[in-house]
Amino acid sequence: MAFGEKNIQRGNKGADVTELQLKLSGFRGTVWDGDFGPGSELQVMAFQREVMKTTTPSGVFDANSFDALSEFEINYPVYFASIRCPCGQCDGFGQGRFKNKYRTGKPKIEAYHRREYPGVHKAILYAFRAACFHLKNHDFPPPILTSGYRCWIYNEMRGRRSTNHMGKAIDMDFPAQPKEDKRDDGERCDKARSLLVDKAGFQIGWHGNNKKALEPASIAPTWIHMDVRSYSPKYLTDTFFVSNEEQLQ
Ligand SMILES: [Zn+2]
Ligand SMILES: [Zn+2]
Repeated sequence: MAFGEKNIQRGNKGADVTELQLKLSGFRGTVWDGDFGPGSELQVMAFQREVMKTTTPSGVFDANSFDALSEFEINYPVYFASIRCPCGQCDGFGQGRFKNKYRTGKPKIEAYHRREYPGVHKAILYAFRAACFHLKNHDFPPPILTSGYRCWIYNEMRGRRSTNHMGKAIDMDFPAQPKEDKRDDGERCDKARSLLVDKAGFQIGWHGNNKKALEPASIAPTWIHMDVRSYSPKYLTDTFFVSNEEQLQ
């Protein structure tokens, strides 16, 4: 059955569970393993409490929840134009190069995996969407996507070696507000990171496995970088990476 045609709840397994776990990636968050356990139930309850404003969340993703999710997705769009690679030579999401190739002299871990993934990971885009919601509820100005895909051609143009932005990361920022300086900007980003840890299940830094990560302020003082590089390879297979709006529906 297609996503949305039947309730999803504790004990269910399958592709629709995986899709829901991804779509709710910015509500507490869990691994997208297709197995609806207590973590997924908490995600659903957070969505019901915060988006649907119910005081008695059921933890069952039912017809009303699917409707609320559709409306939520319309209210918080993700524009792929702002996340395409700016190199001018790839098609916007790299050329699929360097699968299982790692940076020379570095451990064979995802942080050094040179792979140009075929799009941006759904979990990070759905988390961005939810981040816009959480930030709005806490009186932050609307964030904008400032950086998405950066392929190896673009890396070479800029003298960069990071593999993060080859589908595993996005950066967002708050436009400068009148009469504010860099320190105000930095403080706002710190507060935003704390909110995302609390509401969306991010960690600051990469110490924990299978958790969405935010770069610490020491690296990203006046913007917010989020990525999925701490996940095991099974959570980073090609099907999780998308390159246009339709694939995100
Ligand atoms: Zn490129
Ligand atoms: Zn970044």
